[in-house]
Order: sequence, then structure tokens, then C-alpha cells
Amino acid sequence: MGRFAPTPSGRMHLGNVFAAMLGWLSVRSRDGEMVLRMEDLDTQRTSPEYAQVLRQDLLWLGLSWDRETPPQSQRSRVYDEYFQKLEDLGLLYPCYCTRSQLHGVNAPHLSDGTYVYPGTCRNLTQEQRNAFHRAPAWRVMVPDRVWQFTDRVQGAYSLNLATDCGDMVMRRADGVYVYQLAVTVDDGEAGVTEVVRGMDLLSSAPRQMYLQELWGFPHPEYAHVPMLLAPDGRRLSKRDRDLDLGQLQKFYSPQEILGQLAFSAGLLDRPESVSAQELATVFSWDKVKKEDICLSADMLKNL
Ligand code: GLU
Repeated sequence: MGRFAPTPSGRMHLGNVFAAMLGWLSVRSRDGEMVLRMEDLDTQRTSPEYAQVLRQDLLWLGLSWDRETPPQSQRSRVYDEYFQKLEDLGLLYPCYCTRSQLHGVNAPHLSDGTYVYPGTCRNLTQEQRNAFHRAPAWRVMVPDRVWQFTDRVQGAYSLNLATDCGDMVMRRADGVYVYQLAVTVDDGEAGVTEVVRGMDLLSSAPRQMYLQELWGFPHPEYAHVPMLLAPDGRRLSKRDRDLDLGQLQKFYSPQEILGQLAFSAGLLDRPESVSAQELATVFSWDKVKKEDICLSADMLKNL
């Protein structure tokens, strides 16, 4: 079983369509099921209107799903239970660090700019905790252990959560649960066996695998697909309204868009018009490129 897990914070751009297309193809080429879930934890940035447009856009492209599970914004009671399980395992602790402490110049960062939580609040005494007089975030302790898995697109990948990430926030100080918790619970409860998404989330896989183990969910298979880059090398983003579907729909058919994307992915020799159903008959992960794909200005013109 696969899933679409869009964040309804704007129209899909071509990169979102690319990942959704490959996720759908992987599942449908083997007659598998697909679930849809709106990832709207961030209620400031997301809206039911965008969720509705997303559903319409997926259907317009011919990317269907079998059922929709409740949006994350309605599931905090369920997340409470999983949070409690971590508490029962003795793995949670309150963290009072401020943003500037965490991200300031003296905070430890890895060479790629990601930041590693150094465990500042792990061993505070009750007295020290009481002295803060403010609501804490809650972190789960991570083990000093290497997580290894084989991504269908990217190949072998490993990460040690202790040295590459540090103890992870599970609930923010304002009470909102974080993406890693919600996504692991939702995929686990829905019985998702295959996660297809952008390369930018590759390092989230070991984080989620750790939580899956704690909660007794089996690990799904992962496929982290290349990112699409604008001709100037930037990643496409919703904020820049890059090639969003609202614009594209004015000029192109779903078959033209899918054909271009399938060609960029390595699934077709030429960018010909093709339906999602037709693509399912030629789909294979072995053909899918692993490097980021830079869209040529030329190709954008044709699209
Ligand atoms: N909601 C995320 C997004 O729209 C995807 C999360 C995931 O696939 O795990 O980028």
C-alpha cells in the first residue's frame, strides 16, 4: 500500500507532481492500493480549500486513491496515545532550549548545515526544570546506533541518530506534534508498506524507522526520488509559485505533463503524451534516475 501525503499549503508544483506520479506508478503497476492523507499539522500555512484543490489536481492528472484517512489536524488525540507510549518507555524528557540557543552560532552543526541537538536538557534535575517557568518541548532520546536501509532509488543509506541528529523533538512547546511523529503514526496505522517522496526527506527515513521500532510498526520500503530544479539550479518551491498546476493547466493536458515528467524521470525515451494508466505498464524503479533533475528552459517551453 502506498500513500499521497501532501501538505495543503498551496498548489502542487511540478516537483510535487513528479513525486506523486512516481508513488502512484509504483503502487498501481502492481495493482496495489493508495491512500491519501492531508498533512496539515501547520494550521497557519494550510487550509481545507487548498486540500480540496489538491484532490482535484490529483484526479485531473489521473492519479487516483482508494481512501482518504483523516487529516493530521484532527488526530491529536491519537498522537497523544503514541506520545504516552514513549513516555511509558521512559524515553521522553522536557527541553527548554530557546530557538537562538539551538540555532545560534555556537550551536553544533554538521558540515551540511544540519544541526545536531547536543542533549543540553537530557539530564536536568527536577529543580532545574521547575526554574524555567515555561512550557517545554518534549524530546525522545535516540540510541547511538547506525540505521541502515536500501532506498529503492538512492541505494544504501545509513545514519546514526545520536551523532547525526540528536534527541528529536516530538511535541513542540505550543503542544503541536511534529511531522516525524505524525507521519510515522499515520503510515503505521494505515498499513503503508511503501513510502515514495522527494530526496529532501531521505534523512527522515531513519528517524521514522526508529519510531516504527518503538511503536511496533513494520518498516515500509522507501523510494526517495530526485528533486526537480529550475533552469537556474534552484529547487522548485511552492513559495515561488514555480510551475504550479494552476498555471500549467491553462496550457497543457495531463498527458503532456505526465509525458514530460516521465521522460525526465527516465521512464520514456521521448517526451510523448501519455496517461497515468499507460505509464503504469512501462514503469520500473530500475529506470528511474537518482540524481536531481534540472529542467531545461527548452523543456519548459515545450511543456
Ligand atoms: N507532507 C510532506 C510534503 O508535502 C511529505 C511528507 C512525506 O511524504 O513523508 O512535502
